[in-house]
Amino acid sequence: MIYTTQKFQQSISGESHLPTFNHRFTLTEETNWIYFEVEVSRACWFNMLLFDPNGVPRLQYMQGKSSPKGIVLHQDAQHSSAATLPGPLPLGEWTLEVYVTDNATSDKVKKELEYQIACEAGSQELPAITEDIVPFGYDKWAEYDSNGFVLNSYNWDDAIEEGEKWYKGDFHTHTILSDGSMTREANLKTAQQQELDFFVATDHNIISTSWLEGETLVIPGVEITSTKGHWNALGASRWIDYRPSRKDGGLETEQGVNHLLKEANESGALCSMNHPFLAPWHWQMEHTSLSGIDSIELWNDPTFRANGQATEKALLFWSHIWNEGYTITGIGGSDSHLLPHKSYETGGKPSLIGDPGTYVWAERLSASSILGNVKKGHVYVSRGPVLDFSAQVGETSYKIGEDLTHAMDQNGYEALCKIALTHDSEEVMVHWMEDGKLVHKERGLSSSYAVNWKDQSYHWLRVEIRSIDGELLAFTNPVYYGKKQPTVQTWGELIQKARVTGFEN
Ligand SMILES: [Zn+2]
Repeated sequence: MIYTTQKFQQSISGESHLPTFNHRFTLTEETNWIYFEVEVSRACWFNMLLFDPNGVPRLQYMQGKSSPKGIVLHQDAQHSSAATLPGPLPLGEWTLEVYVTDNATSDKVKKELEYQIACEAGSQELPAITEDIVPFGYDKWAEYDSNGFVLNSYNWDDAIEEGEKWYKGDFHTHTILSDGSMTREANLKTAQQQELDFFVATDHNIISTSWLEGETLVIPGVEITSTKGHWNALGASRWIDYRPSRKDGGLETEQGVNHLLKEANESGALCSMNHPFLAPWHWQMEHTSLSGIDSIELWNDPTFRANGQATEKALLFWSHIWNEGYTITGIGGSDSHLLPHKSYETGGKPSLIGDPGTYVWAERLSASSILGNVKKGHVYVSRGPVLDFSAQVGETSYKIGEDLTHAMDQNGYEALCKIALTHDSEEVMVHWMEDGKLVHKERGLSSSYAVNWKDQSYHWLRVEIRSIDGELLAFTNPVYYGKKQPTVQTWGELIQKARVTGFEN
């Protein structure tokens, strides 16, 4: 039986700021499924959410160039689409909320636009699907919750490998569920070819509610994507209501972003600022509280030309962040949007998951262990060299990211830091950065540098690996001594302060 056939048509013309529309329909009889087909008159940034009568988001949708036009929300996961929340479909009034802009960097619709959402509901037999749908997959992550959904079917502590070591992963990936070209299967396959131990699923404004079986650890996440900058909630364990229709403006306002960072953090996610200096997707929210940021994506897809400069700027600004006393972890992300054989630059290297690779020291290969160690800074990022770093204080060796305060207080204030690289060329330079200054440079596959911090004030030391002509190959997070009380609180204030010393935004 098919109960409802409805079409919602909307035209948007002229200058509309973040146009948002609610389309409602009512289920009056027992229903097993609802099928939607979305048609948009031109390419745009199209976001759609479906809320059931209890206000639970049951479907998250974005229309990119490769995304499906058809979506099924079914009682049974096996018939439902990816990014839905399968389960009983309560009777009553359902709401589709759509917000749409010209593109990812505009908060307006300036050029006329039309869309149509055809909607059908029924029971027993399956809908007559006319468009490809992306199946839900076998690994269900999400369950209902009074405030939305929670990812409590995801096994946060389950290890797919035991043992302390450096695990290689990627903190920024996309699929056809937003504006990527890769299916989830293709992401898994490429990750395996790239010898990744893990990656985080970070589609734009879509928190994955399921995934597929595979040999790589897939960690739930989302790239909260506003027109003024992007950030990842890594390890998102519940629905994050980012909607611009929220009272505080959600992802699109300064106040909304600070609230969202706090909410995401309280739910256990790491908040990671993405490609902060990569225009036009750079971070433009000046009032963002620096204490709300756990990590920062310093190195976004190196095959994308503009990232050369954006990464250098990010590294420089990261030094200002650390000098201010914020011990924010630096990570990398491929931001993979292309098929594995495609390049952004003609004749250039293909843009691949795992380039750059972010290496995390962890007790085991589980989401909680990986994310917990990112928070602690046990991280380096590399396009090739495998690093072996140690900071020796007294008799004990410490790894990347360690707070050496206690060890130095007990054993004198000297640390002998050593690095050895496994790499296919000896033609590399090791750069030692102490408190933001390049203090020592050495050519070759090993180097050492001793610090003496007997003044007992706050200090830090990290390493960059570069080619002979200066191209970045890898960087570590700092080891450090002491604490510093920051004097500025926001992103914008720190940019201002950095400008005094010549930093150009
Ligand atoms: Zn982004």
